[in-house]
Amino acid sequence: MQNLLQSGHHPKTAGRYALVNPFAGLCRCICGSALVMQKSKKFRPRLVCQNQSHCHQKSILYQEFEKIILQILKQQLPEIVCRRNPDGLKQKILHQQISEIHGQQEKLYDFLERGIYSEEIFLARQKALSEKYQHLACQLSEEETSTEILKLSDMLELLESPEMPASVKNQFFRSVIREIIYSRNEQISLKLVLRI
Ligand SMILES: [Zn+2]
Repeated sequence: MQNLLQSGHHPKTAGRYALVNPFAGLCRCICGSALVMQKSKKFRPRLVCQNQSHCHQKSILYQEFEKIILQILKQQLPEIVCRRNPDGLKQKILHQQISEIHGQQEKLYDFLERGIYSEEIFLARQKALSEKYQHLACQLSEEETSTEILKLSDMLELLESPEMPASVKNQFFRSVIREIIYSRNEQISLKLVLRI
């Protein structure tokens, strides 16, 4: 989780002003221009295309925009987890295989010391085991990354809290979303490109 939150670039905030749009740097209008947050004392914040006077896409209430994004993430994230990591079973098997390799490596030294293996055979076996180990360790690290995705569903619940600062939301969204493409003629359309 920590790694995910730290990944990606941080959006530029104007001088001393705090970041107000949690989707800053992530969402653009179908016309290619950025969607920006419009705030006023009278009205609730909205997201609007910077080029609206030309592209004529209608604006959207920020609250509504965020709600749709969270819904999409909720629908898509569990699917990713199921596909990649059913019950962590694969991790258990990989851990088992790795500990077997450690056992075999110890035996190698024993065989060398007792003169059962020549140095040549020892080195060849050691190389083969080390390659096998590298391969398994690599697979394990991939599996463990997919478990992190599982925790994202908890994070989504937290994001619905109104106290969550925009900058924290922004870090989270940037860690899982690459881009959001928005359009609104009659109907709202949001296309999400995920990082994971
Ligand atoms: Zn536009």
